[in-house]
Amino acid sequence: MQCRQNSILFETGYYSGGMGGKEKFMEFRAFLLKYAEIGVKGRNRYIFEDALVRQIRYALRRCEGEFSVRKEQGRIYAEVVSDSYDYDEVIENLKRVFGLSHICPMVQLEDEGFEKLGEDIIKYMDEVYPDKHLTFKVNARRARKNYPKSSMEVNCDLGEVLLNAFPEMQVDVHKPEVMLNVEIREHIYVYSVVIPGPGGMPVGTAGKAMLLLSGGIDSPVAGYMISKRGVRIDAVYFHAPPYTSERAKQKVVDLAKEVSKYTGEIHLHVINFTDIQMYIYDKCPHDELTIIMRRYMMRIAEHLAKESGCLGLITGESIGQVASQTAAALLVTNEVCTLPVYRPLIAFDKQDIVEIAEKINTYETSILPYEDCCTIFVAKHPVTKPSLSIIKKHETHLTEKIDELVQTALDTREVITVSADMQESR
Ligand code: ATP
Ligand code: MG
Repeated sequence: MQCRQNSILFETGYYSGGMGGKEKFMEFRAFLLKYAEIGVKGRNRYIFEDALVRQIRYALRRCEGEFSVRKEQGRIYAEVVSDSYDYDEVIENLKRVFGLSHICPMVQLEDEGFEKLGEDIIKYMDEVYPDKHLTFKVNARRARKNYPKSSMEVNCDLGEVLLNAFPEMQVDVHKPEVMLNVEIREHIYVYSVVIPGPGGMPVGTAGKAMLLLSGGIDSPVAGYMISKRGVRIDAVYFHAPPYTSERAKQKVVDLAKEVSKYTGEIHLHVINFTDIQMYIYDKCPHDELTIIMRRYMMRIAEHLAKESGCLGLITGESIGQVASQTAAALLVTNEVCTLPVYRPLIAFDKQDIVEIAEKINTYETSILPYEDCCTIFVAKHPVTKPSLSIIKKHETHLTEKIDELVQTALDTREVITVSADMQESR
């Protein structure tokens, strides 16, 4: 379909606020930002809208230029305040704001009479849709009631203006390929391009959770998915120097940074896990090492979670993916937690996870070949059906020193504030 083609060209940068070689007439100076699910939140709606506005501002802060974001009559607008900005960059960043269902780039016109409006609309259609073989409908909204024409009259009259200018175009009031929206406010806003947003709920509307973030493929995806439902994220990484290198740690920081483009700032707790791991290695059967270690990771993560007001833990576990994620192993790991553990990937195949990792741009970093603390001491044949009572019994071998080691690990943690605009390091 013609208009879809045009929209896709548009979205992929064909039209970046102007027409490439042609002299620029129209520029998108404002964006109508639509939300879906939060529209039904009744009396709490303002909480969701405010969180959405905050996240939009966070996303635009990373873009070149200055923007003003405001709420008006159940709608959110972002306006370009500076002389210049980068259209593609703005769209890319807005596409990461959970809660947005649609992003509509708008052209702002001054109200200089209907004749001038008609001329501007012709120029708009000419620039945005180089191929005029399309069906359209004008959809006017008159928010300013003293405008001399009714919405209906604007629809009909602008429709006629366009048909006269572009005889190839046709009106289709039922299923138009191009819905040309004309909003008459103090200024007149015109938009027809609708770019899908990411959906979900604005981050910050569903409390906070602690993500166990390793350097692998799964955990960044898990954090992204939970955050999409409005959950703010903090993270914990278990580091085992010198067995795991600074580069492995940096990789986790880089992953957190990528995730923070969606979630907002992340406090990443880096826990030195070496002594705990060595102690378990010394005292417990080696085939149970991973599972016991995972129980200590969960205990420590839960401690940090409670301390920072998190309501749950998040992991990238998926049933049957590895020995420590069989149903029996998950039961044993889960037993130490009192907070709910969100495992959004629990039923996902690896390939499905990889697809999301690619989409959110974490995959390339995740596959860098740095060591992970889970793989360093891993047994050749780890238990796949651990028994809770046996694991608990073997954990009693740790009684002498484990509390002290856990306390030291907590006391010596490093907290890194990771945000999307944080300086590149590597
Ligand atoms: P990924 O590491 O991408 O999550 P994986 O298949 O390597 O996937 P495991 O190593 O078995 O998974 O770990 C399962 C989950 O435990 C991870 O998804 C993560 O949430 C958590 N986890 C594992 N290792 C660490 C670590 N070093 N630091 C923080 N969390 C970890
Ligand atoms: Mg891992």
